[in-house]
Amino acid sequence: MLKTIKKYIHVKILRRKYYRMGNCLGCGKCCKKIYVKTSRHVIQEEKEFEKLKFLHRFYTYLTVVDKDETGLVFSCSNLDETTNLCKIHKHRPSICRRYPQEELFIMGGELTKDCGYKMIPIISFSEILGKVVNSG
Ligand code: SF4
Ligand code: SF4
Repeated sequence: MLKTIKKYIHVKILRRKYYRMGNCLGCGKCCKKIYVKTSRHVIQEEKEFEKLKFLHRFYTYLTVVDKDETGLVFSCSNLDETTNLCKIHKHRPSICRRYPQEELFIMGGELTKDCGYKMIPIISFSEILGKVVNSG
């Protein structure tokens, strides 16, 4: 019963597609490989990124460390390289507090293999298959 209520709240009220399970293990990897997405696309050029720094303090923490097929890759200057912990943990931006959220997946992102979190689809594959079979 509780499971059904939880599912109803997530799907119908919060309009979620995933349950977030697990815990942060403090490896710091998600703070070392960050993509920045605007409403239109993942940032590809530093020039475009520079303008974002005026919009939110989170962007001022980031430094370009690479570029791959997705876009520019940033690392956060608040990560303590020795401990892998956030130096401003108590005051970290809300985007960091919410991580990982399902929007990450909607934009094509993924968790690192050894991340302590897992995102579990709320509607299981067998449920989807059942609906397809029944509608056919
Ligand atoms: S990658 Fe996962 S386990 Fe590692 S710091 Fe980020 S949220 Fe925590
Ligand atoms: S502010 Fe802290 S939690 Fe957020 S990306 Fe930087 S190091 Fe990670």
